Amino acid sequence: MRRSNGPGKGEKMGQHVLVTGGAGYIGSHACKALAAAGFVPVVFDNLSTGWAEAVKFGPFVQGDLVERAALDAAFARFSPVAVMHFAALSLVGESMKNPGLYWRANVTGALNLIEAAVAAGCGQFVFSSTCATYGDHDGVLVDEDTEQRPMNAYGGSKRAIEDMLRDFEASHGLRHVIFRYFNVAGADPEGEIGEQHRPETHLIPLLLEAVDGRRPALTVFGSDYNTPDGTCVRDYVHVSDLADAHVLGLGWLQQGKPSRAFNLGSGSGFSVREVIRAAGQVTNREVPVIEGERRPGDAAFLVSGSNRAVAELGWAPRRSDMRSMILDAWRWSQKPGFER
Ligand code: UDP
Repeated sequence: MRRSNGPGKGEKMGQHVLVTGGAGYIGSHACKALAAAGFVPVVFDNLSTGWAEAVKFGPFVQGDLVERAALDAAFARFSPVAVMHFAALSLVGESMKNPGLYWRANVTGALNLIEAAVAAGCGQFVFSSTCATYGDHDGVLVDEDTEQRPMNAYGGSKRAIEDMLRDFEASHGLRHVIFRYFNVAGADPEGEIGEQHRPETHLIPLLLEAVDGRRPALTVFGSDYNTPDGTCVRDYVHVSDLADAHVLGLGWLQQGKPSRAFNLGSGSGFSVREVIRAAGQVTNREVPVIEGERRPGDAAFLVSGSNRAVAELGWAPRRSDMRSMILDAWRWSQKPGFER
């Protein structure tokens, strides 16, 4: 059933921002940050992976990016000043098994959205990209100028959209901010929203399920990588800090500044084993672990070596230390969760 709610009575009469994927994990946190900054986030989401219950901060249009008419209607109805584009398939492992799914959904979805934005005269676009566009760089920290050589279809599809944005800026003046996320973790510290995927595939929620017995154990995907303890190293960033960066990115565009790409990471690397150890300490419980095979498409080491977002956007991450991220995720995991 299609649902579409207009702006309600009590809502702030701020500027509208169209948030695709706003019912999902990162998108819903961005909506909360946008609303706190006085914007009205209009969620456009097909609920394939998101949750209607996570739409709490503005109007909701249930629609799919493949339906151009639904997009055109949303632009006509709300006249958003900007787009934040989160809606995407985002699982590395799945993208290796079914690349066509990723190329079709992510790239054609973004193309429809960009064309609809241009047609509606909406010239500011904030895009969720990923550190997976960089691929593996042999343990070297990656900054925004590092060569992008994605090693999975997920990263490939995101890099293609970055290219698309550059072309549409050249032809139609679509200014954009590209955020290349590292590993997003944690949950809203106020407990309103959090991470809930079906099926869950991400390290921290899975290991917390193993901690409280909802799954028998966490499988470590590979312990023979060329890293200090043999497991993959990632850079984890708190979802609320990430959401704050999006509001700053929107401000950047509203100030008329040029299109720019920013890494969003903490700059600290944690191996899978280190995350497991930290979770054991935060929860004061045992994490049952099984050693498994490598997951195809995984880089050994992905850590941001850039402080561009801090230096240029004024981003000030507050909860991106491992303890806070696990604590917030743990608290969220103890709640009942969203229902359809
Ligand atoms: N990982 C793992 N076991 C799991 C899930 C993930 O060992 O059940 C590892 C994965 O190989 C990667 C890291 O944890 O090195 C983070 O994976 P996640 O899927 O959370 O995020 P991604 O890096 O794919 O965006």
